[in-house]
Amino acid sequence: MAGVKLKEITKAFGSVEVIKGVSLDVADGEFLTLVGPSGCGKTTLLRIIAGLEREDEGEVLIGDQAVMALAPKQRDVAMVFQTYALYPHMTVLGNLRVPLEMRRLNVLQRLPLLGRVWPGTKAIREQIQLDAEDVAKSLEIAHLLSRRPIQLSGGQRQRVAVGRALVRHPQVFLMDEPLSNLDANLRTQMRAEIAQLHRRLGVTFIYVTHDQAEAMTMSDRVALVMSGNILQVAPPGEIYADPRHIDVAEFIGNPKINILPGRVMNGIAIETLGFRLELATSLAPQTEVRLGVRPEGMTVHGEGETRGWSGRVGHVENLGSEVLLYVDVEGVGRQVIAKLDPERDAIPSLRQWVYLRPIPGRVMVFGEDGARVSVIGRSDDIRGFVDPITGRRLQQASWDA
Ligand code: ATP
Repeated sequence: MAGVKLKEITKAFGSVEVIKGVSLDVADGEFLTLVGPSGCGKTTLLRIIAGLEREDEGEVLIGDQAVMALAPKQRDVAMVFQTYALYPHMTVLGNLRVPLEMRRLNVLQRLPLLGRVWPGTKAIREQIQLDAEDVAKSLEIAHLLSRRPIQLSGGQRQRVAVGRALVRHPQVFLMDEPLSNLDANLRTQMRAEIAQLHRRLGVTFIYVTHDQAEAMTMSDRVALVMSGNILQVAPPGEIYADPRHIDVAEFIGNPKINILPGRVMNGIAIETLGFRLELATSLAPQTEVRLGVRPEGMTVHGEGETRGWSGRVGHVENLGSEVLLYVDVEGVGRQVIAKLDPERDAIPSLRQWVYLRPIPGRVMVFGEDGARVSVIGRSDDIRGFVDPITGRRLQQASWDA
């Protein structure tokens, strides 16, 4: 078993720099997911770890060993590709046996005639057969061993591809969007299977996806990749609640986080579309900021409220267990989304005028460069509301009234 370390990796294709100095420390036995939009460099990073792509600069360590000079098959990693890359002319059993034959038999032993008479080959082949059958059993594909890939469903092919990686007992599993060719239901089911497989094997998994739901549900930690950089590495709950950059906040979470404009007044208060919030730490006056509030980070009020972003309800989406309210707030580019609980909250009607009042501990403040500017742990960037006349902080009771 082994962890994986990347130190200051860079990679360019021609004049295009696609990996810009990435460092990452994946612990032994950890499930780490690289997530990010298409083209951000996730696959390139994975291929660099596998040895299928050569880094321009930097170091790759598997366990304690620097592996930059090692060929892919010497690195003791196994990769599952998006396309599965199964041998189409071979049966499932053949596909499972190949990695073991390549490893355990020499070139001459693999020849059909010579292999038969080479001393010891028969015993090795029998063991390979047993190992392949074991893996097939554990992945519930034992009944498919004589089929060819074309005779399998997408989910079955995916299992064979995992089996082919598994059979060698590698130190590290690399998976590149292995579920993206499956339909939505099967993807959800396979997600659970892969997470369970990881727990059972206890080896290091590095998984690439652009699907945040996959990243959030399977991983011990998520690394968010954007434009060739890793913006944040954290457990799923933390990356959701405490993003360090606005791009992380916007990528993680469905529906998306709401972003609203703000301007720092006297260092400690922020004016945002007609009301003021008190910052937990002081910032330079006149700084433009962006406030991030997740749909569940607001309460919704009708008449009689004045503190909050106000607008008309443009759309109501009733999902049964929750209701999403799309509100047209003047001065905000896209509709602000609030999440309501139909058992607890009153649901405003279409076209009704509402006030969206942010819950102080749930507002995140981002600077002009996108970095979080006021991080006090778990999104506690905003303390509460400020009286617009006296400039004093309002007591809890007065804004809860
Ligand atoms: P996706 O989710 O779409 O697979 P990704 O995040 O995995 O995207 P990469 O495949 O790592 O992205 O590609 C990163 C960038 O490098 C892209 O702009 C891609 O076009 C470019 N790229 C990748 N491989 C090569 C190559 N062999 N030659 C030239 N450019 C490449």
